[in-house]
Amino acid sequence: MIYYEVLCYSCKKTFRVYEGSLIYKQFKERRSRIFCCEDCSHKIRIDAIKNFFR
Ligand SMILES: [Zn+2]
Repeated sequence: MIYYEVLCYSCKKTFRVYEGSLIYKQFKERRSRIFCCEDCSHKIRIDAIKNFFR
């Protein structure tokens, strides 16, 4: 399986993005320079929802 090793801007850990995923596409096309891993994007999403209902 093809994947890239990408650095998470939030936790500074490298994570793998596999071919076919959205981040893979963005990374390949250089559309975005900051990426975060699934754990962090999940956390960010939860925080956003919490803030929304505050
Ligand atoms: Zn992370």
